[in-house]
Parts: sequence; C-alpha cells; structure tokens
Amino acid sequence: MTEPARPARADVLVVGAGPAGLAAAAAAWRAGARVVLLDAQGEPGGQYWRHPPGAGPDRHHDPDGYVRLQAALAAGVAGGGIDHRRGHQVWRVIAGEEGHAVHAVHAVRSSPGGAEAGIEVGARALVLATGAYERALPFPGWDVPGVLTTGAAQALLAEHGVPASRRVVVGGTGPFLLPVAAGLAEAGARVVGVFEAGDPRAWLSRWRDVAARPSAIGEGAGYLARLAWYGIRVVPRAAVVAAHGSERVEGVTVARLDDGWRAVPGSARRVECDAVAVGWGFTPRIELAVQAGCATRPGPDGAPLVDADDVGASSVPGVYAAGEVTGVAGAPLALVEGHAAGAAAAAYAAGRPAPVEAPAPAGLLRFAAAMHAAHPVRDGWIDWLRPDTLVCRCEEVPLARVEEAIGELGAEDARTVKLLTRCGMGWCQGRICGEAVARLVAVRAGRPDDAAANLRSFADRPLAAPMRLDLFADLGAHEGPTRDREPL
Ligand SMILES: Cc1cc2nc3c(=O)[nH]c(=O)nc-3n(C[C@H](O)[C@H](O)[C@H](O)COP(=O)(O)OP(=O)(O)OC[C@H]3O[C@@H](n4cnc5c(N)ncnc54)[C@H](O)[C@@H]3O)c2cc1C
Repeated sequence: MTEPARPARADVLVVGAGPAGLAAAAAAWRAGARVVLLDAQGEPGGQYWRHPPGAGPDRHHDPDGYVRLQAALAAGVAGGGIDHRRGHQVWRVIAGEEGHAVHAVHAVRSSPGGAEAGIEVGARALVLATGAYERALPFPGWDVPGVLTTGAAQALLAEHGVPASRRVVVGGTGPFLLPVAAGLAEAGARVVGVFEAGDPRAWLSRWRDVAARPSAIGEGAGYLARLAWYGIRVVPRAAVVAAHGSERVEGVTVARLDDGWRAVPGSARRVECDAVAVGWGFTPRIELAVQAGCATRPGPDGAPLVDADDVGASSVPGVYAAGEVTGVAGAPLALVEGHAAGAAAAAYAAGRPAPVEAPAPAGLLRFAAAMHAAHPVRDGWIDWLRPDTLVCRCEEVPLARVEEAIGELGAEDARTVKLLTRCGMGWCQGRICGEAVARLVAVRAGRPDDAAANLRSFADRPLAAPMRLDLFADLGAHEGPTRDREPL
C-alpha cells in the first residue's frame, strides 16, 4: 500500500502499534470510527511482537493474540477504516482546545531510502500507546563498544537474528533478563552469567500476587529451565559494576551487593566477555502525553506515568492512554487497556457515552505490583561511579561535573543540572541519562522523593524526537488542522 503524504483526518488517531495500540485501533474501528494508526517502527507489534519484515505469524509470545490483531488490522486497512502508517515518528501532539477538540499530531515519515517528509493528522480523539523504554544506569566503562542494553540485545536477535557477541554477560534487574539470556544462548552465544541485582526471594513474600497470573509463573520457570539446560548461572544480589576494554569490551567487574546496592567490599571479581547487556527495568514513554497536557503521577518504581482512568481517559478531554505509558505491567494488561481506550475514544469521537468495560483483571495488576516490589532500583549504584565516569554519553558529561553542579553551584533539580552541565541535551534527550541525573540530584540534594519530578522534567520537550529543520519549513507549505482548526 502506498502511503499518502497529505494531511490526514481521523475520528480516532492511535500513536503506537504495540499490543496496546493495535488493540485500540481494532476496537475503535469495530466501533465505527475512522482510524489513523501511526508507529515509528516498520512493522506492527511494538516491543512485545518485534519481528523482521516479512516474518510469518510465529512469535515468541502469544502468537494467537498477534494473529487476531493483525487480521483485524488487515481487515480495517482493506475496508478503508484504518489508515496504518508505518515508519512515522510522532514528534509533536497539540491537544485541541476545550469545546473544539480537534487534536493535531505531527509526524516524520522515513522511508527505506532515507527520504523524510512531515505529515499532520487531525483527530477528534487520540489514543497514546507509546509504551516504555528501557531504563539505563551508568557505570565505569559503559561507553565502551560492546556494552548494550538488554533491549538492544533482544532487538538485534528478534529483528536480525544476530546475537550481541560470542561471550556475553547479562546484568541488571527484573524478569526481562531471563528471556534475553535464553535468547542469546539459543542463538549460539555463550552467556557467561546473569547477574541479578535484586533478591528473587522478594517474589516469595508476594506469592499470592504472583499466583494471580499463573501463565507468568510458567513462563519464568520455562526460562529458568532453559538457562539451566545451557548451564547458565543466575547470580542474585550481584551486578556488573564496571566494564573494561578500549576498542571493545574485554571483560567486566561483577560484585555482590548489599541491601542498598553498594558493592560488598572484597567481593569484586573480573569476568571475561566480549559484550555485556544490562537493563534496569522500563520507564513509561510519556513525552507525547506531557505535550498534550495530560496529568502524570509517580508509578510504583518512582517513574512518572500517565494518570488515566479505567477506560484510559487522561486529564485532557479526548486524549486517552493505554499500555505501558500508563505503567509498566506487561503485554496482557496492555491489550486489555488498549481495547478499552480504543472503544472509549471511538465513543468520544462520535459524541456517545463511553461503553462500560469490564475492569482490568485484578490478577494482572497484582502481578505487576509484585514485580515492581521485587525489583526496585536502589541508590547504591551511585557508589559504583568514578569522577570520570560519563553520566551523559551524548554530551560527554562526567560525574565530577554533575557533582560540581549540585555541590558547588547549588543545583537541586534535574533541570538545573541540565542547564549547568548539558546532561540530557544531546541526541537521546535524556532518555538514557535522564534516570541517572534524576536520581543523582535527588539523592545528593537530600530530596529522594523528587526523583519522579526530576525524571518528568526530561519528558517535557517541545519536540519528542530529533527533527530536521527543513521539515519544520515544510509544515507551512500545506494546510493542516493546526492552522484551520475546522471541526472534523
Ligand atoms: C526493549 C523492551 C523489550 C521487551 N521484551 C519483552 C519480553 O521479552 N517479554 C515480555 O513479556 N515483555 C517484554 N517487554 C515488555 C512488553 O514489550 C510490553 O509489556 C508491551 O510491549 C507493552 O505494550 P505497549 O503497546 O504498551 O508498548 P510497546 O509494545 O512498547 O509499543 C509502543 C509502540 O509505540 C511506538 N512509539 C513510541 N513513541 C512513538 C512516537 N513518538 N511516534 C511513533 N511511534 C511511537 C513504538 O515504536 C512502539 O511500536 C519489553 C519491553 C521493552 C521496552
């Protein structure tokens, strides 16, 4: 299907084609809405169903769910009810004014040849299903080639069938470490060890909540069995605290951790490897919702999330949120939330009352709460850093400069640290270093509860993605809903 470059109009615009966005688009279309679905990726499925172009229906997780949603999407596209635009990075959302709720969304379309073009979409209702991104924390040597996030290691495997390297160390915290290690081993890598900073016994104290989602227990046990089969050890309460090498990673230092995640003296040892994949859980991707003016609140792990009701309605009329942007809780809940938000958005667009949805299954919520309780990020990681450890890799800002901004120049929040040091002003716009700066300044300034507000300040950006200036210029060249503001 060729994708038109003209401004599009919709009853319901869905941003994100992961489980939540696909479910929302299908539900809105079934409710009779004209739907535009935008996603930055080339293929639908989001993080959960990430796959290479042209792959068959076989997926690692819930293949039946994928096939069902893919069929709905195909039927919607074929019937003209869904306009699915792949490879569209949304950089700006402008919420409609009260009483004239035509929301405008700007996106950049990138095509395989590298050409880019700006588009606008106007819609009566928006569903933001932008998911989450992986939480990164700095450590000495994390800028050496061969250090990846666990998500990057998985994406290499899922999209290109390539293991990160031959001898890989996996570290961080959370259940996601297990599928990454298992996937690497299955693809032929030697996984030298999995270093889990948390204490898995914490799951036991919440066993009732864990039992509320039996499929997850089976999934977790399956991964552990596969790791055991490959002879991979999962070492609890231990972390990769430094990576070594210049041209590329040649080894890492791992250490046992105390309850606050400080390295236990005398426990450090070197492990030889040529790649390391590290991940510390996920952070809701809220920047478009913040642009739209949606209220946020700190989630169970302190990361800000979009405050939405049972059908995904945010604080802004006509703007809905679904999936991990409203809290990291797994794909099954994202599907339920996406369905509810899509149906509610279609009703809003048509001027009908929102349909009454069954509440999200309590078991999914309880399991998510148990997961967050079992895998908190403790502040002891700050002690792993050295004065010359880069906190912000894009702008090459070492810890010493951040400490100077806080200790000598009096910065008490992340925004001030950013202005004084340029942390978060580079290509990633704080998605990589934001968490570290937010926590560092909160801890050092003696205001640990401010970490969520600090992190939210990194999400408050006029542009949600880097953007070429000539594409701004193009925006003036055609009519669009932001200028004419006609009712749809
Ligand atoms: C790196 C990573 C790996 C994961 N691996 C696993 C796993 O192995 N097993 C498991 O059970 N769970 C995994 N999860 C969690 C699981 O993927 C989520 O629970 C599930 O995908 C949530 O669905 P979602 O629709 O909310 O978000 P996502 O699936 O993340 O979908 C969000 C979509 O929004 C799009 N998007 C975001 N911002 C924009 C924008 N500005 N413009 C256009 N499009 C945008 C993204 O391209 C993406 O396609 C992983 C999560 C991440 C982040």
